[in-house]
Amino acid sequence: MHDSHIHLARNPLKDNWKRDTQDFINNGGKKILTQGSDVEDFNDTFQVAQKINQRFGDIVDIALGIHPTVFQRNFDKNNYEDIFSGSKKLLTRFVEIFGQEKDKLSAVGETGLDYFEMYNAELEQKQIEALKQVQKESFKVHIQLAKKNNLPLSIHARELSGEINCIVDALELVAKNGNGLVNGSFHSYTGELPPVSDILDLGFCIGFNAIITYPNGENVRQILKKTPNDRILFETDGPFLTVQSVRKNKKALIRYGRSAQVKEILEVAAGIKNISPQKLEDIADENYERVFG
Ligand SMILES: [Zn+2]
Repeated sequence: MHDSHIHLARNPLKDNWKRDTQDFINNGGKKILTQGSDVEDFNDTFQVAQKINQRFGDIVDIALGIHPTVFQRNFDKNNYEDIFSGSKKLLTRFVEIFGQEKDKLSAVGETGLDYFEMYNAELEQKQIEALKQVQKESFKVHIQLAKKNNLPLSIHARELSGEINCIVDALELVAKNGNGLVNGSFHSYTGELPPVSDILDLGFCIGFNAIITYPNGENVRQILKKTPNDRILFETDGPFLTVQSVRKNKKALIRYGRSAQVKEILEVAAGIKNISPQKLEDIADENYERVFG
């Protein structure tokens, strides 16, 4: 069992690493890929990974990247020109840290495009265009680093429901800048069904999380059905999502996404794929090793 996408530097995961890792191992857990998603969380990412690996053996792999929504957070609505100089500085800093730490890394990410958050923030069209441009530039830099260093990518591509602009732009950037030489995971893809074939054609896996356990997760269950077994990865995106059994249990004491919950995600996925949980676990672990190992 593996968790191919989690943010261990975020609380409550950061403070509960000992208990959470022990519970993961007790459920058959083997590997966790934690995602650094902003220069501000890189130190904590390395620290928590080191603590876990020292205590439990070689469990945690590390991905480093700038999450696309980070650019929006630093965005001054009244002075959108700032976004270009600000993002350039941030990217330069990222490339610098990446160069220093690359021997410790198993992947590049979390990176990608997010057209969902920017439409929720009531920005002007001009500001939205600026943000998209900056996100694309950042994603391009990440893809080039992955190619140059022979590392896989952890990709986030989220859009407004019913649209495909974000995934189409993301796939185009991967195709143009990866030259068929990069692979990795499209994590938590919740978009339309047709682009799934393009994700697979480019050689990528898809990361499935707690959303497949939700009553309203039918769209993602359809994506899972369409994804061949040898392209399936599991993840929690912890601490952000939590499985349905925890969600509906008002008395549950641990209410955030953590790696032990992959067990429930895997069991639901096995039902959808009509295969035994053990068999699916073995196949998905092989996929993890092939892509991130
Ligand atoms: Zn994430």
